Amino acid sequence: MRKDVRILLVGEPKVGKTSLIMSLVSEEFPDEVPLRAEEITIPADVTPERVPTHIVDYSEAEQTDEQLYQEISKANVICIVYSVNNKKSIEKVTSHWIPLINDRTDKDSRVPLILVGNKSDLVEHSSMETILPIMNQYTEIETCVECSAKNLKNISELFYYAQKAVLHPTGPLYCPEQKEMKPPCIKSLTRIFKVSDLDNDGILNDNELNFFQRTCFNTPLAPQALEDVKNVVRKNMTDGVRDNGLTLKGFLFLHTLFIQRGRHETTWTVLRRFGYDDDLELTQDYLFPPLKIPSDCTTELNHNAYLFLQSVFDKHDKDRDCALSPDELKDLFKVFPYMPWGPDVNNTVCTNDQGWITYQGYLSQWTLTTYLDVQRCLEYLGYLGYSIICEQESQAAAITVTRDKKIDLQKKQTQRNVFRCNVFGARGSGKSSFLQAFLGRNLTRQKTIREDHKSYYAISTTYVYGQEKYLLLHEVFPDTELLSESDLCCDVVCLVYDSSNPSSFEYCAKIFKQYFMDSKTPCMIIATKSDLPEVKQLYSMSPVDFCKKHKIPPPQSFTCNTADAPSKDIYIKLTTVAMYPHARLRCMCTCNRCTFCICQNLLNSELLQSVKAKLYTAVLSRLVPILNELGSSLLADKEANPFYQVHAASHVDESVCVEFSVLSFSLSLSDRHVTQADLKSSTFWLRASVGATVFAVLGFAMYRALLRQR
Ligand code: GDP
Ligand code: MG
Repeated sequence: MRKDVRILLVGEPKVGKTSLIMSLVSEEFPDEVPLRAEEITIPADVTPERVPTHIVDYSEAEQTDEQLYQEISKANVICIVYSVNNKKSIEKVTSHWIPLINDRTDKDSRVPLILVGNKSDLVEHSSMETILPIMNQYTEIETCVECSAKNLKNISELFYYAQKAVLHPTGPLYCPEQKEMKPPCIKSLTRIFKVSDLDNDGILNDNELNFFQRTCFNTPLAPQALEDVKNVVRKNMTDGVRDNGLTLKGFLFLHTLFIQRGRHETTWTVLRRFGYDDDLELTQDYLFPPLKIPSDCTTELNHNAYLFLQSVFDKHDKDRDCALSPDELKDLFKVFPYMPWGPDVNNTVCTNDQGWITYQGYLSQWTLTTYLDVQRCLEYLGYLGYSIICEQESQAAAITVTRDKKIDLQKKQTQRNVFRCNVFGARGSGKSSFLQAFLGRNLTRQKTIREDHKSYYAISTTYVYGQEKYLLLHEVFPDTELLSESDLCCDVVCLVYDSSNPSSFEYCAKIFKQYFMDSKTPCMIIATKSDLPEVKQLYSMSPVDFCKKHKIPPPQSFTCNTADAPSKDIYIKLTTVAMYPHARLRCMCTCNRCTFCICQNLLNSELLQSVKAKLYTAVLSRLVPILNELGSSLLADKEANPFYQVHAASHVDESVCVEFSVLSFSLSLSDRHVTQADLKSSTFWLRASVGATVFAVLGFAMYRALLRQR
């Protein structure tokens, strides 16, 4: 909204400009007036539109032409005053004033004009007959009004129209010559209709109309008012109301009617609520609400945003096949000013047999956009009307900014749901195939992908110990000598070599040594094309020895030359490693059946997590005062420091034992140092955690025994 409105009055001498201003201010007709009234400012709270309004007078006798031109360029709206009983003053409107003003303003940003016929008390007839042709000739004339400063007729109306002309201009909405709304206005209202049509049946039913009314005007429509609105439309057109709801045609007709009746502020209220500015463009403030993302944090969609996107999917998946056909996708993006997804998206996410983006794929693509380009995600959610439909402050409410990765690493656990894996490998080593296989596509299916529809990203979900996570694969172009920061920044690195090509491993070794040998990012080596005969790699060391030497897991063999969809195991492993970069996972299995997996599932179970958290706080609150007592000498010795052990406790394969030792320590402490009340509240947690921990330790011991057997 504007900060203020500046109204300028011009016209021939003695038509009553100064008197009009004085009459407005003092609410009585002044017999004597100065040549020119001082500029007055009406405070926001006494104006109908709640904006401070400045009223500026002009006097030929007191002001130079230069001063007049300056005032014209400063004005937001200009009232050209004539006297209804003075023919010459009317003639001057077109012969002098309009050309003078137009010469001083840009053609594209003409100030709105209002024709004011003063001294209506002196004549019987109206000047409208003379004025209407002028109005039709000049589109910049917003409206005309006849008034009298003497008997105070239409004085406040005049200033209200002037204010309205600035705040709710007709120009962008309506074409008076054609008597219809302008195309940009129709386009914006059509988008608003589509966003508000929650079930996408092309009709605004009573519920949708009420929601619309509430979001735009803060009040629901009374049932009778709702019927009245529909009846007005019914009376004027045949297909404006269908199944007792408003069609797009009816909706547009209503707005045309508002504008024609001079109630265009209604249409403007709707447009502004949906994010439009005076030029009917979505404002930057609406599309890009502020969102701070500190470094080492990533961006994800929160639960509410997924629910919203799910409802958007459902409303466009007309045939309920859980995939978006090209037509359905086009329909979904009709509320966008351009088509945001190119054909590469179909090769970035999961599709069905027809190559259409599935529900799963659709959510994956949103997750990808949020992760890689959160500004774009905010913009897209803005087009879909997220903040309006979900009744949120802005689209920023859809985004979770994750905790700094350094803290995740320190605490050895993460709340994140999206993990990025950058895939390196020499030309032809099978990187693209590795990405496509993640989307369930075997080699035969991959051969059908057009070169210009290829994608350097693939994203889908995997299950890690019962939790659904997104894995984002990014293929890094191999020819670059110096890799960029974003090429190196990820949660897990994949080094791919072609096991049937003797000179393929060298590139992996080179990349590893150059960039990842000393980095904290975990690495995995993938030996692709395992369906072909393996050849010896021309490198000083075999890939297996290389892995041993650098303490990375042995090469994982992989093929996508399968009859069905390629196996997902490797992607689950990658996600697991990305989630637990510290864990030296001796068993890389994620079968969910073996003891290791059962242990993992237990460790990740919500009960144990919350027990752990409670236990830590309880233990810490008791340890800190004791540690202070013990003095700094003990603190210096990290290994002997129980405080340190607590932090080390979540290390995946040693955690269980450490936890147990901390627990017994805290139990013995509690006997001595904790008050009775403290004990009561925590005994339940202690008992529960003893049970869980004993169970976990037993399971862990069994796992160890099993490993030894293997
Ligand atoms: P300005 O030169 O345009 O500012 O005109 P003024 O406000 O000085 O008014 C010129 C003369 O017209 C004064 O004598 C006013 O009293 C008179 N006048 C202004 N408005 C009206 C009106 O509405 N009706 C009548 N009868 N006289 C008016
Ligand atoms: Mg005057």
